Amino acid sequence: MATTSCDVAIVGAGLGGCFLALLLGRRGRNVVVIEQGPSVPSAGADFLKPPGLRVLARHGLADLVGRHGLRRDLVRYYHDGDPIQDCHFPGGGFLIRPYRELVELIYTSCAMEGVEFRFDVSIDDIATDGDHVEELTLSDGRRLRAGVVIGADGTKSAIRRVLGIEQLTMPYERLLMRVATVPLSASVARLNRLYFSSEGWMTYLYPINRDQARVFVGLPPEADKEIFQDGIPVLLDELKKFVTESSDAFNFLLPATWQRIKVSSLRVEAYHKGNAALLGSAAFACHPMTGMGMSYTLHDAEILADVICAAGGDHDLLDRLLGARYEPRRQAHRELIDYGDALASTFRDRAAYLAAFRPDLHVHGESAATAPLAPAG
Ligand SMILES: Cc1cc2nc3c(=O)[nH]c(=O)nc-3n(C[C@H](O)[C@H](O)[C@H](O)COP(=O)(O)OP(=O)(O)OC[C@H]3O[C@@H](n4cnc5c(N)ncnc54)[C@H](O)[C@@H]3O)c2cc1C
Repeated sequence: MATTSCDVAIVGAGLGGCFLALLLGRRGRNVVVIEQGPSVPSAGADFLKPPGLRVLARHGLADLVGRHGLRRDLVRYYHDGDPIQDCHFPGGGFLIRPYRELVELIYTSCAMEGVEFRFDVSIDDIATDGDHVEELTLSDGRRLRAGVVIGADGTKSAIRRVLGIEQLTMPYERLLMRVATVPLSASVARLNRLYFSSEGWMTYLYPINRDQARVFVGLPPEADKEIFQDGIPVLLDELKKFVTESSDAFNFLLPATWQRIKVSSLRVEAYHKGNAALLGSAAFACHPMTGMGMSYTLHDAEILADVICAAGGDHDLLDRLLGARYEPRRQAHRELIDYGDALASTFRDRAAYLAAFRPDLHVHGESAATAPLAPAG
């Protein structure tokens, strides 16, 4: 089978992989993206917070992604039915746009930059020479030699495994259940509302477009088995105890299709080895309550693009630049993961939740102390 070469091989066509491919393609790099699925991924995030919007704006993409999305600038939090705080997003708010739509927009922009995508293809084998990845053998039998290899291949990253980078996955005790879409009710159209209860429940209701809403429910571990056996009517009885200002959505929840989602945090011991680096959920995962995973990933892709272009094919320089400019991102990610852990562990206790809540991190992302300078160009 044929062997082809490229400057950068990116494994995974999620937000991180597609955005990095776009940035590198624009700078004239020859990029191949390998995706095991038939298209860009569909499951994932809905909220793009201000830091992520700023990254896209730096690259002329703000109008494109914002055109059909919804803007919100307020989330109201409740505990045991009482409003306890409003979280404001000044200066334009955040964007609600289903993950697949967002990734597809970036993917479509890649076509203009000559980025090659191979779908329905995964990695069968990876040949390394010491710390250097030499060649990828793809599931379609083809071989790919790349100057740089990026593992943007999600929490179970094959690239991370081959590089021998240790990871620590910590499942959150609370199972999430999600209703993908229900008709939009008046209360949800008016405001994003996030409810907690001292019995350990959580419910978040928000619009995803002008007609439909999405609902997340977090179950306390002790209720998990009961709900599994007795089903959605029991779950609805629980929600009615503390979801006080969104009752017009209840009628839509009984016939809806519910999905179970297990969420975990992920920390890894290094973000690169030689000419290979990890990006997005292959490098870190935090609790979705922070709503920041995409924003950090977009910024990480900016840094990676700068480093790869600055190294210009020199492997020793690439290794040094990744160490100096990309590895420090672990500190910002660690802070975010710790923050998500703090939020996830205080649902039952109103005072503890409010004490853990950090508007700076929640709205603006990484603190000034850990934020690297915006990359040039
Ligand atoms: C329930 C939930 C809600 C979230 N909500 C938000 C939110 O509202 N806002 C926010 O900012 N963040 C949120 N996040 C986090 C956000 O989804 C991630 O930060 C973001 O998706 C990371 O993008 P990615 O490109 O790393 O990963 P992914 O989208 O996971 O892409 C990885 C890709 O790699 C592919 N792949 C995997 N293995 C291989 C292989 N061996 N070969 C080829 N391809 C492979 C996969 O098929 C997939 O397409 C949420 C996360 C979860 C779990």
